[in-house]
Amino acid sequence: MALKTDFCILGGGIAGLSLADALHEHDIESIVIEQNEIGSGASGTPGGLVNPATGRRAKKTWKAEHCYEAIASNLEKIQAFSDQPFYHNNGLLRPALLEKMAHKMKEQYEETTWPDGWCQWKTKNEIQEIHPGINCVNGGLWLPIGITVDVGAYMQAYGHFLEDLGINIFCGERPYPISGDDCWIIELEEITVKADHLVFATGHTIATSPFWDWLPVNLIKGQVAKFQKESSPLSFSHSISSLGYIARSDDENTFIQGSTYEHDFTDVQPDDQGEAYLRKRMKRTLPQLEEESTIIDQWAGVRTSTPNYKPILGKHPAYNNLHLFSGLGSKGLLFGKFLAEHYADHLINGTSLYPEIDINRFA
Ligand SMILES: Cc1cc2nc3c(=O)[nH]c(=O)nc-3n(C[C@H](O)[C@H](O)[C@H](O)COP(=O)(O)OP(=O)(O)OC[C@H]3O[C@@H](n4cnc5c(N)ncnc54)[C@H](O)[C@@H]3O)c2cc1C
Repeated sequence: MALKTDFCILGGGIAGLSLADALHEHDIESIVIEQNEIGSGASGTPGGLVNPATGRRAKKTWKAEHCYEAIASNLEKIQAFSDQPFYHNNGLLRPALLEKMAHKMKEQYEETTWPDGWCQWKTKNEIQEIHPGINCVNGGLWLPIGITVDVGAYMQAYGHFLEDLGINIFCGERPYPISGDDCWIIELEEITVKADHLVFATGHTIATSPFWDWLPVNLIKGQVAKFQKESSPLSFSHSISSLGYIARSDDENTFIQGSTYEHDFTDVQPDDQGEAYLRKRMKRTLPQLEEESTIIDQWAGVRTSTPNYKPILGKHPAYNNLHLFSGLGSKGLLFGKFLAEHYADHLINGTSLYPEIDINRFA
């Protein structure tokens, strides 16, 4: 059987699913092919944050207002396709753990114009009132707009949403696309897909793809673990970002501690060193919680980042109608939906790409 489509998107993570959705909004047909399962790459993390104040200085992220609006409304839209809540508007606490860090965060906060209600500077006492027992030196930030997402569950629901729109998603086959005379041909076990355009939204595997291995990407392995507090329910409902992050889950006793930053790694499996590192980070922020918690699950994924920490979008310089959407780094939730819409708009209406994310910056 042969299927013809406008776009064939490889990869069923945040990038691939958001792009299929954005193209559909322009009445453009697509098919998604995922080599494993939906959300089996970096986008499977069980606890991720929508955090517009990142890095040590808690700097407002690139296009934060647009990105936030795009993900917040998308989460609401996709929630209808899941039986369980997969996100919470529960706010985010960013305590400074060192004097120097507090100084830089405060300086950055004072230089930044934050939208109303997004971000507040809190003294050490105020931080400890919000979260008794938390380590804090000289203050920090409270972001009432922080969102905590079970990204894997979001992806599952996103898949259902797209299928409901009539978009075909094929999982479990690693496709080998061939460039035909006027289209891309992708042979799967039982069908052949012929697509006018081919998009790689394949996360970190671009580093070994013959089409994309010339791009300067950095791969960072990250591990997260789900912990359970033994004695009593957790006394807080917000999430925390200080050394790594603590993402609240739905359950009153469990939370996700993330994440490691491993630049040299040989496999993508979770391991004991990962757990030890995560515990060390938790202990620096909430020593008592670390003592009272046991690990119940662990997960690892690979973030794909670029030298300017911005995603990569655009057409291959040599092949016709071959596209890339990758490099979402540690801000996949913030960047994914907004940039999928930006790229669809570029493809369909010919609007310019932001130069900071355009693949041409590496050409
Ligand atoms: C530990 C960790 C914690 C994180 N925390 C956060 C957070 O708090 N907030 C946040 O916003 N972001 C966070 N991120 C980053 C976020 O998860 C990523 O930016 C995002 O998931 C990347 O999405 P993607 O679609 O580009 O890649 P992926 O999710 O990796 O998806 C790529 C998909 O393509 C498939 N694939 C690969 N090759 C092929 C092929 N040849 N053909 C078909 N399919 C293929 C893979 O199986 C995979 O499913 C975190 C990442 C990690 C690892």
